[in-house]
Amino acid sequence: MLWSHLRPSLTHLLSLRLLGTASSRMVVVKQPELLSAGLTFDDPSAFRVKSLGELLRALGVFQLCSFPLLVNNCGKLMTGTRTLLGRRGFSLLLRPTVYAQFVAGENEREISQSMGKMSLLGLRPMLAVPIEEDLGESTGEKRYDDNMEAMLECVRMSHSNAWSKDPMMQLKITALLSPELCVKLTTLITRQPYDLSLLVRAMDGEAITLPGLEETETAHFLCGLQRLNKIAEASVNKVRVLVDAEYTYMNPALTLVTMALMKKFNKDGAWIWNTYQCYLKEAMSLLLEALNLSQAEGFCLGVKLVRGAYMDKERKLSEKEGRVDPIHPSWEETNKSYNSCLDVMLDAISQKPEHNRIIVATHNEESVRRAAKRMEELGIDKNGGSVCFGQLLGMCDHVSLTLANEGYPVYKSVPYGSVDDTLPYLVRRAQENRTVLQGIRKERDLLRQELRYRIRLGLRGGS
Ligand SMILES: Cc1cc2nc3c(=O)[nH]c(=O)nc-3n(C[C@H](O)[C@H](O)[C@H](O)COP(=O)(O)OP(=O)(O)OC[C@H]3O[C@@H](n4cnc5c(N)ncnc54)[C@H](O)[C@@H]3O)c2cc1C
Repeated sequence: MLWSHLRPSLTHLLSLRLLGTASSRMVVVKQPELLSAGLTFDDPSAFRVKSLGELLRALGVFQLCSFPLLVNNCGKLMTGTRTLLGRRGFSLLLRPTVYAQFVAGENEREISQSMGKMSLLGLRPMLAVPIEEDLGESTGEKRYDDNMEAMLECVRMSHSNAWSKDPMMQLKITALLSPELCVKLTTLITRQPYDLSLLVRAMDGEAITLPGLEETETAHFLCGLQRLNKIAEASVNKVRVLVDAEYTYMNPALTLVTMALMKKFNKDGAWIWNTYQCYLKEAMSLLLEALNLSQAEGFCLGVKLVRGAYMDKERKLSEKEGRVDPIHPSWEETNKSYNSCLDVMLDAISQKPEHNRIIVATHNEESVRRAAKRMEELGIDKNGGSVCFGQLLGMCDHVSLTLANEGYPVYKSVPYGSVDDTLPYLVRRAQENRTVLQGIRKERDLLRQELRYRIRLGLRGGS
């Protein structure tokens, strides 16, 4: 029964055969509609691999997420409920519901169980340590060292458990380097760009001086670079590390550090990746800059392409400071930006697949279809490793499962940790993704259709 649900579709088998050899690429270019035509994302049987409990849980959670008032105030609501029920009571309430939907587990045994299940469905985990920091929350060096240990543990888990081919993990630089310093660096480098080689030398342990930074800031920067260096050394040739993009007031500093890591560690392959947020008006120029830099410096480029998660805060801040809004004026403009960046990257990949890589990190069906179609037109092998897809755990499984069934590499971004540790992360995710959450009506409808199918099957005596 389970096998029949997991069996690859005819299109999947056909696509694997078509993409198997160099000569078959010509066939793919001639008949693109044969392959991406399978990506309609409206088949409820994609959910046949889920247990009844999982179906009901997803339906319940998505139903809750469909109330904007709840989503917008979920931070306050959760804090209130936690005070009312106490830590244990709150954990008992959350664990089988919201937590189980969006988080992999608390310890390695629980995470392993979830990941094993995910592997069976053809999905690949991308672990994300849920550490969040913003301005004013910085603490001493010890806290950042502890975060580094948590990330080294994440590298170890991702690598040693063999949950998937080509493991990936996410990393937040502000968990290792104070957000205040990232803001200061951002101001400094707009006036006077830093040389990447200088940062690489610092990673190698050289006591360099950096123009514009005070002594204590330089000391902290050097410690941060050493922490990043340690994580990169542990992950190279084992786990691909995808650096998150955050706010525009610190992103240039994050990109500078990430590019230095790429220069040092991406000589023979893309082990360190950067994130490009297409809701930004400057997204395309940033992406082109990265492509040019990787070309000039001779390192491989890994790109995580997202729309962007900090829209409300970016807008509020620019308004408060009387700056021009850095975000595109509408969702349609953001979509255009996403499509253009996607096209540029896929073109670059078709020319140098061993040099450039992308993860199309979106829940948007149109973007996913466009990527698949362009891959076929350009003759990019879906098993070649240069293009993969990404969605968040517990969201838009109909997109992820359909893609996996069609033979595309699909990663699910997987946070893990205790209820307390993951709560701020989950609240932020729910709020940032409320456009997606409100748009999950389709997933809800498909889940309902699957539920009705099972009830009918049950009434007929099942098979
Ligand atoms: C694997 C993975 C990794 C991620 N890493 C990061 C990261 O490092 N940094 C980060 O910022 N985000 C990250 N995200 C989150 C990502 O940005 C959100 O999932 C994404 O914004 C939701 O967009 P979508 O393409 O999935 O869906 P869609 O529903 O198609 O788009 C919604 C998005 O469109 C944009 N948008 C909506 N309304 C407007 C408007 N009026 N004007 C302009 N733009 C608008 C917003 O970005 C909104 O989030 C990641 C997501 C995944 C799956």
